[in-house]
Amino acid sequence: MKLKAFFTLVFALAIVQLQAQQPQADMIKTDQGQLKVQPVTHGSLVLSWHGKNIYVDPYGGAEAYKTIPKPDLVLITDIHGDHLDVKTLDGLELKGTTFVVPQAVADQLPEKYKAQAIVIGNGETTNQAGIAIEALPMYNLPETADAKHPKGRGNGYILTLGGKRIYISGDTEDIPEMRALKNIDVAFVSMNLPYTMDINQAASGVLAFRPKVIYPYHYRGTEGLADVAAFKRMVNEKDKNIDVRLRNWYPEASKKNNAGAKKN
Ligand code: ZN
Repeated sequence: MKLKAFFTLVFALAIVQLQAQQPQADMIKTDQGQLKVQPVTHGSLVLSWHGKNIYVDPYGGAEAYKTIPKPDLVLITDIHGDHLDVKTLDGLELKGTTFVVPQAVADQLPEKYKAQAIVIGNGETTNQAGIAIEALPMYNLPETADAKHPKGRGNGYILTLGGKRIYISGDTEDIPEMRALKNIDVAFVSMNLPYTMDINQAASGVLAFRPKVIYPYHYRGTEGLADVAAFKRMVNEKDKNIDVRLRNWYPEASKKNNAGAKKN
């Protein structure tokens, strides 16, 4: 084999390997074309719609984003290292990218990104790249000053695009603001102890607002991965019309059998 052909093959295999590590992507029909949902890892996902790419909480190394076009928007929910991951950000192509962040994240963003950041707080909205973005509270219950996620610091988000409403919970318990949501087409809901909530609480919360599609995400806790299959059973026993989508958000963990969490 010629050297060039050999390197082409090695490169092709590397791409296949990268794609093999990526969880399955889904296409969801909107009023303006398809929305592509690409789970990445833990609390990170990429939404692609109408020629725009929206990265949520990019984390775990830029390598995982290599096969995905560069972001037009980066949404960050909170200050913890599994959400605001500067090392991963630094490995991405972020020229011309707009960040949407809560104030606490803006305060910790490296100086070079600050001018690209739009700050919104709980209850506030912004419109970016043709997408309406609303910030929602995300917090632990009961509300205490020393909570891992005090109310008001971080943002959950609702994105409205092509007539669909996408809810990204961030690190939260089944707070009243979540339970009261209406007309959610696609939801990403966290469930890991001791940082957010257990699967019983998550199922109860999801059954309260009944999204059409729900992805359990951010489900690696100190005791390993939450039992998302049991979560799905609990939800579907009460409402079989809710489409609970289980994806492998922890391809590295399943490979190395290393499910322990260092982050929250
Ligand atoms: Zn987290």
